[in-house]
Amino acid sequence: MTEWITRDKWGAEPIRGDRLNHQSPDDIEEVVLHYADVYPEDYETGDEYAHNDAEFRTVKAIEQFHIHGRDWATIAYHTLIGAKDQIFVGRDTNMVGAHTLNHNQNTLGVCVLAGKGKGGAISLAQAANLCACLNLFVFIRGRSFKLAPHSDYVATGCCGDPLRNWITKVTDENGIYVPQG
Ligand SMILES: [Zn+2]
Repeated sequence: MTEWITRDKWGAEPIRGDRLNHQSPDDIEEVVLHYADVYPEDYETGDEYAHNDAEFRTVKAIEQFHIHGRDWATIAYHTLIGAKDQIFVGRDTNMVGAHTLNHNQNTLGVCVLAGKGKGGAISLAQAANLCACLNLFVFIRGRSFKLAPHSDYVATGCCGDPLRNWITKVTDENGIYVPQG
């Protein structure tokens, strides 16, 4: 079962309002996908990382880098897809993210937590939770949105070939996400 991990649950720091810009959920045009290769190379199913301290420490470490290393308001992404059943809440959708240079206004950033050296390969459970997350954004907004990899906007390998291929399977000819389920 998918579990949404609230900011309180994973121990997020208070948001630094002086670093924050707002956007209206009605204006959101696009979701940009990212991955972070934070799990060990032998990571496969995520069983060993689900619902334990290591998983929470991983998200906390990303947050600490974004706040204290980058001087940002809070963790950069709106949601993070955990090892198995968890979706971590990052920023509210009405807060501008810090995930894609020059492409943060009116977009949402979703980061899939993946294994090191796997090029962004994700498990079936993670794909299902990614769909659950995107479907919720469609539900909140009342219409769908463009779904694109980070590499469409910045010279980067992110979000990796497996996720880039996945995007082509869940979007229409205009790059609009087709709700799955
Ligand atoms: Zn990225």
